[in-house]
Order: sequence, then C-alpha cells, then structure tokens
Amino acid sequence: MMKKRVLGKTGLEVTEISFGGLPMQRCTMEEAGPVLKAALDAGINFIDTARAYTDSEEKIGRHLAGRRQEFYLASKSMARDRDKMAKDVDLSLEMMRTNYIDLYQIHNIKKREDLDAVLAPGGALEALKEAKAAGKIGHIGITGHSISLLVEGIRTGEFSTVQVPFNCIETQALEELFPLAKEMNIGRIVMKPLGGGQIQNIDLALRYILEHDISTAIPGMDQVEQIEQNLAAAKQFRPLTDQEREILMQEAKAIGPNFCRRCGYCMPCAVGIDIPQTFIFHLQYTRYGMKDAIPRRYAEFPVKASACIECGVCEERCPYNLPIRERMKVIARDLG
Ligand code: SF4
Ligand code: SF4
Repeated sequence: MMKKRVLGKTGLEVTEISFGGLPMQRCTMEEAGPVLKAALDAGINFIDTARAYTDSEEKIGRHLAGRRQEFYLASKSMARDRDKMAKDVDLSLEMMRTNYIDLYQIHNIKKREDLDAVLAPGGALEALKEAKAAGKIGHIGITGHSISLLVEGIRTGEFSTVQVPFNCIETQALEELFPLAKEMNIGRIVMKPLGGGQIQNIDLALRYILEHDISTAIPGMDQVEQIEQNLAAAKQFRPLTDQEREILMQEAKAIGPNFCRRCGYCMPCAVGIDIPQTFIFHLQYTRYGMKDAIPRRYAEFPVKASACIECGVCEERCPYNLPIRERMKVIARDLG
C-alpha cells in the first residue's frame, strides 16, 4: 500500500508519490495506455496534467475514462482571463472524458502581470470559482516557479494548493512558501522532484523530498519502469543517512542551479532548434563523457545550435530564465 498524505484544505488523501503528466506528450497514444494503467495498478491515486501539455489530457481521457473513480485528477491552464479559462476548463473536461476535475490550477504564474490579471475582475480566478460552483471542478490551485509570486498568491486565501519545483538542487520553497502554505493548510504539490530527469539518483532524491512536510511529489513518467523505480523510494522509505545525503548533495552541486528541466515551454524555437534535446545532448557530451556517441547522433539533428539567430524569444518563455542564447553559443562551439 502506498502511503497517503492530506492535500491541505482540499481534504483529498493523495499518494505521496503521484503522477506527473508532462512527459505523456512524448509518447504515442498507444504507448501512453500501459503507463497510465500501470500507475493506477501500482496504487497511485493522483494524476496531474495541463492544457499546455499538448495531448496529455487526451491520453488520460482515452485510457483512463473507465477507471475515473480510482484517482483524483488535476489539470491547469495558462489562461489569464475569465472567458479563456472557462473555455479551457470545458476543454479539459472534454479531453479527459470526465464531468469533474478534482483540482484545477492557474498554471505558471511567471510575472507580476500574470498574478494581477488572474485576480482582477474578469480574471481567470472568476471562471474557476464559477466552475467550482457549477460542480465542474472541486478545488482551485496555483502553480509557478517564482517563490515570491506564489507566496503573494496564496496569501490572498483564494487557493487550496500550491505547486512549485522542489528537489535537492532547488530548495527555495523551504524558506517561506512551504511553511506559510502549511500554516494556511494549503496543499503542497512538488513538481520537478527529479529536476526534470537531471537527477540520476532517484531513490535518494525522492527520499529527500519525502523527508519534508509536503503533500505529494509528482515526478513525470512516460515508462512503466519509471513508476516502479519512483514508487520504490516511497514504499521502502527511510530517512537519508549522512552518507547518502552527502552523495545526493554532491550530485546537486555537480548539476548546479541553472539546468534545463525539459519542460519545453521555450518552444517552438524561431529557427526550429529542439532546445531541450540540444541541452541534453550537450550535457551527455560534457558530463557523462559520451565524447564519440554524441557528436555522431548530434550530426543527425536537422537544426543545430549554430543556427541560433539570438532572437531571445525562447528566453522570454523559459520559467527558469536560463541564458539559452549563451548556451547555444557554447554548444555550437562544442558540437556545431
Ligand atoms: S534565441 Fe536562438 S534558440 Fe532561442 S528561439 Fe531564437 S533562434 Fe531559437
Ligand atoms: S530551456 Fe527552459 S523552457 Fe526550455 S525546456 Fe529547458 S527549462 Fe524548459
């Protein structure tokens, strides 16, 4: 049995390791079925997705509509005004073939204007309150990467959950956001628990998170093996030993704070570079010593880092403010 924790004032009892639906968009409709079903079979009872994750919602609807009573469902939209948010809620319901979404979140509050627009008269929050009153959704949450804006957001008292990155590399949420959320009985959903796939030591990374007073962590999964691997950390949970903590912190230090989480928000690139994939290749080349294999595979890339025209569009979109243009120059120098 998977251990459960209460998701703040929603009262929902969710598994402490749950299912992040972002990588669903990387597999085919057919491949998605076994992964989603395996997650439920393994006892996971909370699935999080988003309108922005291309066909992730559709895959959940297609494969899990018949098992809807077995799990709590969360989605989110980047709509900032009332009308667009109302349409997105209806679209989420349709895509996921359900008449009720347990938690609907304001997605990716990145700038002050986002928060202001959402909370203003005619803003997205109004639509979510109406959807809640109409019985289409159960609870309202907020997500983002800016700790200060999320703190401000939850202080309004309008949200039942907050979703934020937290892992051994990104610990900022521990300082003010999580304690405040706890005090206000707001559910704490941990996104990017494995740093978007960068942290290799999964067992230690997840146990580190579970040591903290969070509600649930939602590692993204698109393979059945990942489910088993992620759940093992929760099932055999024990606090990290000093030695394990040291190993994990060494890995965190080696990765550093400015790494690509493969969220894909920066896409599409103006000239067609696959930005996250290019970063992965470069990481494998520099960090994992794949000096022969990577240049060969990189040679097959249709658009290379050297094609970057430094327009900066991608940097506007990256929630982590990564210096993508600078990185492209380095990658062009190393790989072409
Ligand atoms: S700055 Fe470079 S990588 Fe970013 S969108 Fe423009 S061309 Fe693409
Ligand atoms: S560069 Fe930024 S936006 Fe693009 S995938 Fe990486 S973390 Fe996400």
